[in-house]
Amino acid sequence: MTLGQLLLKKALPNYKGEELTKKVLQNKLFEIAQTDPDQYVKSVHEIKKIGDMVSSLHHNMTIGMEDVAPLYIEPRGSTTLDKIKYIKEKVMEHPGSMADMVRSGARGKDYQLASSVLTPVAAYDVHGNELPISFKRGASSGLSPAEYWAKAIEKRYQVAESRTSVVEPGDVAKMLVNTMHGQVVSTEDCGSLTGVPMDPNSPDIIDRYLAIPFAGFPRNTLITREVANKMAKHGGQPIVRSPLTCRAKIGVCQKCMGLSTAGKPYDIGFNIGVRAAQTLSEPLTNLVLQSKHGTRSAAAGGAGGLKGIRQLIEIPKSFLHKAELAQDHEKVKDIEKLEYGGHRVYTDKNEYFVPSGLKVLVKKDQHLKPGDQINEGIPYPPDVLRHKGIIEGRKFLADKLHEVYTNSGIGIDKRYTELLAKSQLNFVKVNNKALYPHIVPGDIVTYGGLEEVMYRKSNPVPVSRALNKRLAVGVLDLPAGHVIDENTIKKLQKYGIGSIDVITDAVHIEPVMKPIETTPLLNPDFLAKLAYRYLKRTLVDDITYTGKSDIKDNHVVQYALGKLDV
Ligand SMILES: [Zn+2]
Repeated sequence: MTLGQLLLKKALPNYKGEELTKKVLQNKLFEIAQTDPDQYVKSVHEIKKIGDMVSSLHHNMTIGMEDVAPLYIEPRGSTTLDKIKYIKEKVMEHPGSMADMVRSGARGKDYQLASSVLTPVAAYDVHGNELPISFKRGASSGLSPAEYWAKAIEKRYQVAESRTSVVEPGDVAKMLVNTMHGQVVSTEDCGSLTGVPMDPNSPDIIDRYLAIPFAGFPRNTLITREVANKMAKHGGQPIVRSPLTCRAKIGVCQKCMGLSTAGKPYDIGFNIGVRAAQTLSEPLTNLVLQSKHGTRSAAAGGAGGLKGIRQLIEIPKSFLHKAELAQDHEKVKDIEKLEYGGHRVYTDKNEYFVPSGLKVLVKKDQHLKPGDQINEGIPYPPDVLRHKGIIEGRKFLADKLHEVYTNSGIGIDKRYTELLAKSQLNFVKVNNKALYPHIVPGDIVTYGGLEEVMYRKSNPVPVSRALNKRLAVGVLDLPAGHVIDENTIKKLQKYGIGSIDVITDAVHIEPVMKPIETTPLLNPDFLAKLAYRYLKRTLVDDITYTGKSDIKDNHVVQYALGKLDV
């Protein structure tokens, strides 16, 4: 055992397992974080100290002759795959600190080590095409000039790529932070009766609070694994609190956010939006390669990797693998197979184009409701928002983003994508003199602000007498402004809701989705916008339309006045 291993093992109480590699260490820390959060803090601190000590003692690693000693082996196995497997195993037994770093997971991969001590096998050009040259020796025994030149093309490309590949994720990270930085944990409980229905068997349900009583558990029950198991036995889907449906005036509340990985509520004042934006951006660099190579994620039915994430939040007009949604109540008249590929679906009111490679999901004479999916693929997020309302729209965006991350092999706390969906889909266009006497048609307000205005004008009524009225604030998974029909009444009664706040005025609201790059500009707060890009446009627009700012809650102003309490 090395000294480093000994020191690391000391930082983990009672650890007697295998050698600590990056992966083993990560798993062990995750286990400690869940079972003993206090010890987790101590262990992480201890490991960081070891890291600091090692990096200040040794600025470099030493490469000796044994590191570059050529490895001569006769590959064993009957198939090529067996032979490659054998070579990979053998190369991992290679002596030296370079191999140690690969083994521990600190730096480098087995195939990189193999190309140093064995032979590089092949060289590729910038398009990934193999060059017609075979390598007879490894880099450690010296390449011939021809081999060296052939390999140099690939190496130069790799160096350039590693420099430029961080530009794109960096750009996305900036946009995420600017869209999400308002999500501060601001209060203990916002009192929201809205939530998202969730499968009790889903791991994403743990550490959240119950929004509506379910299976004998009261509202605000913390869902532990034990509680979730009991709910699963009961059957059905509980409605749980979520950042998607939080009604806190600023940011989110502790109850809608649930517990942190340390098993505690997030502190009031903690900027969970920035934390989530960083967590969502951090793995993007790894995803660049996947999207460059066009990896498709089958389950999401569309683009995977960074490309998949970008298209969900940037909503380009040419949306890859787009699923058309029915615009209206309509009936399918005809489905035409097109000569040049794809299909055209004709209804009594519209026609839809389905590109080749995507299946048509509707049949002739079928009746469609607005928002029904016409073909395979991913619906365009603004279409979902328009047809299904703001809560369904947010839920769709959060689910799809989570799916792309999961399919790319990255585990992300579902609540982080919910927080992103809430931040991006936070605005509605209002055209209501009754609600907003001073409104200019097309003005945009926050959904939370709208709920508050509607709530002030509402009256509580028993559910049985609420037919055709509108919800003033969201309930269950229904948004504010939802018209109460027979089905809604049945649903509310099923969840034991006796009385609701309704509004009788007509409400003309239209949820708005903009590409993430321009989402921060929808913020009605004039000064908040000035902390972002497009300053000239913001200044001209807001001077023309008399932009306002609530300086009480704005950190930019607080800095300027020197009153920020930090
Ligand atoms: Zn809340």
